[in-house]
Amino acid sequence: MSASERNARFRERHPNNSAVYSRRWREKNPEKVRAANLARTLEEKRRAFAIIGSRCVRCGCDDVRPLETNHVDGGGSAEARERIARGVGGPTWHAVLRGERTTDGLNTLCRLCNALEYVERRFPDLKGAWRIEWLVRPSVVG
Ligand SMILES: [Zn+2]
Repeated sequence: MSASERNARFRERHPNNSAVYSRRWREKNPEKVRAANLARTLEEKRRAFAIIGSRCVRCGCDDVRPLETNHVDGGGSAEARERIARGVGGPTWHAVLRGERTTDGLNTLCRLCNALEYVERRFPDLKGAWRIEWLVRPSVVG
């Protein structure tokens, strides 16, 4: 009997307990829950960054894990607050994936280059003070 068949039988026998059973299973298996959540997030990021741009426009990073969206003209925080106010928080790449937003005004940066971009925008006299350089090219995930 497959897991889905077992789950269906359990729900038939315990129509009011499936949510309780599910919660208990998640509490007993936090590593499995964490691994499944990470795998789902990475798959969603792969699909989102295939639309937005699959590599950092500054350093060329194409490992999806550290990729982020950058608001080219700023305003990312205000946009995030507006989404939260509408009750649909989450990262900008997720809004693109859900079709709630176009890619207008966005590009792709890795987390390091996005931090550097912020510092250079906030403190223009520091522009050019740092450089992101790959010492070891990580194997690309997915
Ligand atoms: Zn980068």
